[in-house]
Amino acid sequence: MPSAPKWVFDTLNFFISQIPGIHVCQTEYLSRSVKRISLQGNFEKFQFPIGAFFDIRVSETDARRYTVAEINNEKNRLKLIVYIHGKGCGSDFMNQLKPGDRIKLNKPRTEQKYYDKSVEKIVFFGDETSLALASSFLPIMQSQKKQYRFLFELDAENNHIPELLGLENSIVFPKLDLFENPDRIKDLTILKNDDWLDAYFVLTGNVKTVQNFRKIIKTQINGRIKHHGYWLQGKKGL
Ligand SMILES: Cc1cc2nc3c(=O)[nH]c(=O)nc-3n(C[C@H](O)[C@H](O)[C@H](O)COP(=O)(O)OP(=O)(O)OC[C@H]3O[C@@H](n4cnc5c(N)ncnc54)[C@H](O)[C@@H]3O)c2cc1C
Repeated sequence: MPSAPKWVFDTLNFFISQIPGIHVCQTEYLSRSVKRISLQGNFEKFQFPIGAFFDIRVSETDARRYTVAEINNEKNRLKLIVYIHGKGCGSDFMNQLKPGDRIKLNKPRTEQKYYDKSVEKIVFFGDETSLALASSFLPIMQSQKKQYRFLFELDAENNHIPELLGLENSIVFPKLDLFENPDRIKDLTILKNDDWLDAYFVLTGNVKTVQNFRKIIKTQINGRIKHHGYWLQGKKGL
């Protein structure tokens, strides 16, 4: 429910804060449009599987989804990585957050099981909105010695961010380019490399490019696919 009258958000148990005392303890711009936000609080009683997200109330009448990029072992500090695209109340809310601000959160949720430990090769695709999910994938793929590749479509100003986040084996593509065009996706090297034809593909981010990529994977190779569009051009929330 991305938007609803204020009374609905005020009365639905789902949106009433269930984790008291959370505050922003650090913020950091990784570029002009990507911000990492650290939250301090007691998250001990909650589970954080890969892809766990919060529905954050970003105004009196709107909630938006943001993924937990990482949480420390003590479960008292977690990080979000958010895209400040400047066109919506979620982006504006995240942009103005600063250390010391209080933030209301309900419990983390998951709708998809993104990680399948039985697979040996994983190809991850996404845009700036997927950087947090990619960051949460990395440690488990490394510890379980999986083979992996990250494919990102990013604004030019964010090309350096996968490396900055330690997302090794990343290839960055310009936005509004290759993944907009199914015929060009067919030429991706990874789709022509026999070693990756049975990989597990995790596709998130822009609904349109996720759909384009999924269509080509399905017609061209055998790979299993998990897809979740995170935003759609012209639509508020998802
Ligand atoms: C499960 C899940 C997890 C998510 N995790 C993250 C995360 O960790 N970090 C993160 O930054 N985002 C994440 N998102 C995406 C985020 O919730 C959406 O981008 C959301 O629409 C932002 O809300 P908004 O109020 O800024 O814009 P909205 O009010 O939803 O939209 C206003 C306008 O902005 C456009 N818009 C929305 N998002 C984008 C975008 N990414 N790029 C360009 N234009 C856009 C819309 O098409 C619309 O025209 C996640 C989404 C889902 C479903």
